[in-house]
Amino acid sequence: MIPVTTLAGKKVALFGLGGSGLATARALVAGGADVTAWDDNPDSVAAASAEGIRTGDLHNIDWSSQSLFVLSPGVPLTHPKPHWTVDLARAAGVDIVGDVELFVRERRAHAPDSPFIAITGTNGKSTTTALIAHILKSSGRDTQLGGNIGTAVLTLDPPKPERYYVVECSSYQIDLAPTLNPSAGILLNLTPDHLDRHGTMQHYADVKERLVAGSTTAIVGVDDSHCEMIADRIERAGTKVVRISRRQTLADGIYAEGAKLMQASSGTALPIADLTGIQTLRGSHNAQNAAAAVAACLAVGVSPEEIRAGLASFPGLKHRMQPVGRRGNVVFVNDSKATNADAAAPALSSYDRIYWIAGGLPKTGGITTLAPFFPHIAKAYLIGEAAAEFAATLGEAVPYEISGTLDRAVAHAAADAEKDETGPVAVMLSPACASFDQYKNFEVRGDAFVSHVAALDGVTMLIGSATGDK
Ligand code: ADP
Repeated sequence: MIPVTTLAGKKVALFGLGGSGLATARALVAGGADVTAWDDNPDSVAAASAEGIRTGDLHNIDWSSQSLFVLSPGVPLTHPKPHWTVDLARAAGVDIVGDVELFVRERRAHAPDSPFIAITGTNGKSTTTALIAHILKSSGRDTQLGGNIGTAVLTLDPPKPERYYVVECSSYQIDLAPTLNPSAGILLNLTPDHLDRHGTMQHYADVKERLVAGSTTAIVGVDDSHCEMIADRIERAGTKVVRISRRQTLADGIYAEGAKLMQASSGTALPIADLTGIQTLRGSHNAQNAAAAVAACLAVGVSPEEIRAGLASFPGLKHRMQPVGRRGNVVFVNDSKATNADAAAPALSSYDRIYWIAGGLPKTGGITTLAPFFPHIAKAYLIGEAAAEFAATLGEAVPYEISGTLDRAVAHAAADAEKDETGPVAVMLSPACASFDQYKNFEVRGDAFVSHVAALDGVTMLIGSATGDK
């Protein structure tokens, strides 16, 4: 845990006692702050009280005496409308921050030069975060991995000079971290998402920009127009910028040429890494993630040899295009995190011949946008509520069966794939649907897929304990 020493003896109000909120309350108490914590959920309040955290309805406190208001990133700061606690804090002129800001202040107070890499973007955050942490760890560095990826940042070990922090930041966390100052900050890409919480694309982009604007080295993916403008703007303002691209040759920066990553300086490019054959980094979206990871690692002093070794041994993240087993020519791939058509697209484009398990609780639009990838699909195995709708979309274009449940889909897809003599093929769960009709969440669905695969005769499992942590 990182005790929040910078608020020792100060009154602090806190709202939101879910996982990271509770961890934040503990860290504040451990550092000696005088905390009053609250949540709209009485069970969360009771759980906090039970472990000795002082709780109290924030309608009734003296706001004028609070030094700071700490808000959980899940609670609306601006859109669709500010939470009632935000109105009360603002009316009293109390600053509003989140756990990432508290971490940033602790680091500044105790180890301002410790390498700190922060990652944001619309897609690829967790993969890039996990990849960077893996490269650092496998080169023997003391590495702390946390933030939006699932480990609350204040549960990490306290800052010290030679300790590396790799922190995934959602827009909500950036919004609540006004002095965020990573040594290397990554903005991967920006596409419309979560606009319900940010109002407009412009506001969403402005929030994300703050992460790189505050960085010593800013690493920006320049394949979309928002990020391109951000890179130009912060560079003009004096920030050191490293541009990343998966689509275009750059005069300066790191770009992908197929599976090769090139490092360019003043128009001269040299290969820095090659992703060919790295199963966990297939696809051009992963070239973007890897290019950003390479740039960040170089920025904090990791050698190209150490980076190449880390890339080659990356175990991948669970449930995201994760190769989990192999039998002869067949690789079994768990992409359960693909809960809509957009998220399934990279997986479908990354393998040439796929026995595709899809379905669940359908999203608006179904799989119509995936039509360009239909030629990659040898056969589809449809499950859950979406089965009939997906069958109608596939029509004559793709052979399919309505398997109904995942166990049947895995058994049938594995049997058909085994008979395929065209070369390497994939049996892949990339459902393009939410899981809630048949599973608690996408993780449970992915784990079920893995256990059905493990139960097949003659399969060599490719995953052990080191399968990533999200
Ligand atoms: P996030 O943490 O931003 O949600 P993840 O790393 O968990 O991203 O990846 C989620 C899914 O998003 C992946 O399964 C893949 O389909 C897609 N994806 C990953 N990286 C990228 C990228 N750089 N650009 C576009 N899509 C991506």
